[in-house]
Amino acid sequence: MTNTWVKTTCAFCGVGCGVEARVSNNKIIVRGDKQHPANFGRLCSKGMALGEIVNNKGRLLQPYIEGKTTSWQSAIVKIATAFKQIIDRFGPEAIGFYLSGQLLTEDYYVANKLMKGFIGSPNIDTNSRLCMSSSVAAHKRAFGSDTVPGCYEDLEKAELIIITGANLAWCHPVLYQRIMAAKQQTPNLKIVVIDPRKTVTAQMADLHLPIQPGTDVLLFNGLLHYLFQVKKLNHHFIQQHTEGFSSTLHAARNEAHDLLFLAKQLAVSSDLVTQFYHWFSEADKVVTLYSQGINQSSCGTDKVNSILNCHLATGKIGKPGCGPFSLTGQPNAMGGREVGGMANSLAAHLEFNNSQHYDLLSHFWQTDKLVKQPGLKAVDLFDAAAKGKIKAIWIMGTNPVVSLPNSHHVIAALKNCPLVVVSDCMFETDTNTYANVLLPAAGWGEKSGMVTNSERRISRQRSLINPIGEAKPDWWIICQVAKQMGFSQAFSYSSEADIFKEYAALTGLKNKGTRDLDLSLFTNLTTQEYHDFTPVQWPAIKNTKQSNNKRFFADGKFYTQTTKAQFITVSYKPPATKTNSTYPLIFNTGRIRDQWHTMTRTSFIPKLCTHTPEPYVHINSLDATTFSIKHDELVQLTSHIGTLITRAKVSEKILSGQVFMPMHWTRMLSSSSHVSQLIAPNIDPFSGQPESKYTPVAISPW
Ligand code: SF4
Repeated sequence: MTNTWVKTTCAFCGVGCGVEARVSNNKIIVRGDKQHPANFGRLCSKGMALGEIVNNKGRLLQPYIEGKTTSWQSAIVKIATAFKQIIDRFGPEAIGFYLSGQLLTEDYYVANKLMKGFIGSPNIDTNSRLCMSSSVAAHKRAFGSDTVPGCYEDLEKAELIIITGANLAWCHPVLYQRIMAAKQQTPNLKIVVIDPRKTVTAQMADLHLPIQPGTDVLLFNGLLHYLFQVKKLNHHFIQQHTEGFSSTLHAARNEAHDLLFLAKQLAVSSDLVTQFYHWFSEADKVVTLYSQGINQSSCGTDKVNSILNCHLATGKIGKPGCGPFSLTGQPNAMGGREVGGMANSLAAHLEFNNSQHYDLLSHFWQTDKLVKQPGLKAVDLFDAAAKGKIKAIWIMGTNPVVSLPNSHHVIAALKNCPLVVVSDCMFETDTNTYANVLLPAAGWGEKSGMVTNSERRISRQRSLINPIGEAKPDWWIICQVAKQMGFSQAFSYSSEADIFKEYAALTGLKNKGTRDLDLSLFTNLTTQEYHDFTPVQWPAIKNTKQSNNKRFFADGKFYTQTTKAQFITVSYKPPATKTNSTYPLIFNTGRIRDQWHTMTRTSFIPKLCTHTPEPYVHINSLDATTFSIKHDELVQLTSHIGTLITRAKVSEKILSGQVFMPMHWTRMLSSSSHVSQLIAPNIDPFSGQPESKYTPVAISPW
């Protein structure tokens, strides 16, 4: 326990704000870290409340087996023995892991190493699949690597900022504050918000395009064609640094050459569309920020590539104030991507389809069990459990019964799975209900390790107090199971620092061909240096004082075989399910300002519960009249897979034909108002990301 200020990082969103925290009178006090380059001292309401999640309210304090408290030793033996029996009988692929962007990099690394390298199952995925996997897939298609090109500083250098599919003001509040400050400093900075809803973010925009949900590819294909028409393409960049432009432009022209028709499909006026296109064509420095409104779609990867195409065609990438920018949702979604926490990637940005990478990793880990093929992505993983193919699943730090689509199916999967292990810092979650073994994990303020934010900046989370009860860090729990399974040599780390140094060494191995990620500078950190680690951004790690090395692709070289970026030809595809006379409204979901994910921690903080005390659905006044819905009265929403009941809020923030509901409330907090009861598991074919923003529903008074 320390009463001096400790520098750490926020546990909530992917902005990755620096926090200073200390213990005072048995309470944790927090303030923004003025030196942290993500936030320069700013914190949002959730960050300010961080100290209040460090206590024993609602905590899981001991291991449990079948509802009875037990010792760590018994729990570890139970899991390791069951895993070995299942592997002997059904093969390693009968084991599944489901991780979380809440885990620290060291936790993620050892979970991935155990599963892909030693158990020999590729079936390890993460809740980041629901968050930014479409961006990952699109980055790899266009750049040959999962590389975010820009940095936050670009927000202060841009002439035009486009925010699409993201309510920054509520979901990435400190970035919103940075943009607002930039706007005050530079009144000529223009902001375009593309969002079907009139969000708080849209209200501050110079131009708001409330396009028809799901039509993003049309909008950006139209932009590509417009740039061609007005001769604002960067032909030098296209010729020198890209491939595939002609066919992509051809497809965009075919689809979007008629502006009036295009505007009609987008359901916005052609004047608004033209204004947006004109601003993009005239500005030298453009940043396009995007998040779940783009990613959570059955064609999310194509949507991202339609954005990347426009930046590549104008060379607006890799330069100060320029670039497409995927905003990650979680505090360590990026760290998870780096260490291979997803089913379709290996550690340290090594790839399955590269035999050199495979040999390198096998040799580095000293294993002959390294998996050869990608595994099951989140939705398919739980589906396999429902079908009896997964015999044991270990869920760490996430609540899939609430967050995955079609919760009934997820529950059926867990009920059907002979062994469900859950490690979590909270006791009562919807998912824990179905656990055979519950393991108490250390929470924020108790655990220590690295996280990477949206701009590739690695920062430390530091412990302030010892873990409460018998809670343990996730990396420790994973290593205990690994050792009990007989993998002692590979998992005998004495601290999280040992794990980070091993991972850093892996990123630096030389016979790997070109890769974007190299942290080898940290391979030989001393314990003190790891303890004192200050935030660094890759690739600007080798000389952190150098300000000109914060972006990728400034030299026009990409990580494809030819070193050229790839244009990806994309065309509009409608959402997987369409509205009809039975289900006439589009059901959209998203976050509210003061809650985090499934509220397992934030619902315990009274001041975070006052902004929006209960679940609701926004409905436009026209639709309210059509369907006899009254403001503040209860309504029933029905999709083709389920029903929920909630309170209607008649609002002009939502357009006619659509309804919006926050995604946070769980079965435990509000059994009838839980959005994944309605959402079908329609996924993007490239990324496996579910379509959580477009579900046809019916509404009626309850
Ligand atoms: Fe935490 Fe995100 Fe808020 Fe920053 S913006 S304080 S990282 S929740």
